Amino acid sequence: MSQTITLLPGDGIGPEITRATVRVLDALDLGLSWEEAPAGHGAFEATGDPLPVATLEAIRRNGVALKGPLTTPVGQGFRSVNVRIRKELDLYANVRPIRTRAIQGFSPRFENVNLVVVRENTEGLYSGLEHMVVEGVAESLKIVTEAASRRIGEFAFALATREGRRSVTAVHKANIMKISDGLFLRSVRAVAERFPDMAYDEVIVDAMCMRLVLHPERFDVLVMGNLYGDIMSDLAAGLIGGLGLAPSGNLGESTAVFEAVHGTAPDIAGQGVANPTALMLSGVLMLRYLGHDDAATRMEAAIDAALAGDVRTGDLGGTAGTQAYADAVIAALDAG
Ligand code: ATP
Repeated sequence: MSQTITLLPGDGIGPEITRATVRVLDALDLGLSWEEAPAGHGAFEATGDPLPVATLEAIRRNGVALKGPLTTPVGQGFRSVNVRIRKELDLYANVRPIRTRAIQGFSPRFENVNLVVVRENTEGLYSGLEHMVVEGVAESLKIVTEAASRRIGEFAFALATREGRRSVTAVHKANIMKISDGLFLRSVRAVAERFPDMAYDEVIVDAMCMRLVLHPERFDVLVMGNLYGDIMSDLAAGLIGGLGLAPSGNLGESTAVFEAVHGTAPDIAGQGVANPTALMLSGVLMLRYLGHDDAATRMEAAIDAALAGDVRTGDLGGTAGTQAYADAVIAALDAG
């Protein structure tokens, strides 16, 4: 059955890395077709809206999107486009797998990292509810609901069970935010009680930062609120070699958007040097979501083969450009 995927090339390095990723996905010959839709700075220039209604409708219609990073126009009163996409489509779970990969000539700080950051995607401090109370005093509302906390808890335990993982750790700051983070924690704990065979513990977010940089191999599935998840996933990406390697999926009940963890990287945009691995690995997550398990395994193996070879992008100490690296991944697919 053919599947149409909404493609958001995005801003900055977005068009370069989406092109590289689409080339690899097309080389798998799965009959995927692409419906390109504007979003971000480019869409704002063309339509006056960084997230046109037609783009949201296209994602809803196809049920799945592959997305490059987006810029939200500054100072025009727009909410973050990324946050709006997640909220409008109720993509409540952000999943960020972080795994050490063997890369030629590159030594990550840790050898055995294999964890997943599961981030609540729709509320917390990303509610967009902030204002100046009086001149010199700003207020930002952190929304935590039992329903959303339970839902993300259930998602984390289901993922841990499905992937045969050994533990779930809830990350929080309930010692200070006793009511809001306290509610999050109680809700996840209630879910944990229904999974007696899965190890469960709770770690305060600041202690978690230290423990992650000391012993990341001890952690498995981490579940947390929106802001902690944002920060913790960049930290975790650093453990394995940086943002160029960290994929993600934003999942709802019937819609999913796959994207790299990193942003638009304006400092290297348009130079053809960005590392497309994070988006390619997001493509692997997308294939698994669509039920193309064999193709996903093939694509991941080809990416690993390319990383183990001598064609690497600058962030990993190499000199290859984005498309040359994509060529190497496609060659590895053909050889595999
Ligand atoms: P934004 O405002 O969109 O978040 P940013 O530059 O603040 O952009 P990132 O895009 O996440 O944040 O980039 C942080 C740093 O990591 C930059 O120096 C960027 O060049 C580098 N970087 C991010 N993604 C990649 C990539 N795919 N390949 C190589 N370097 C990258």
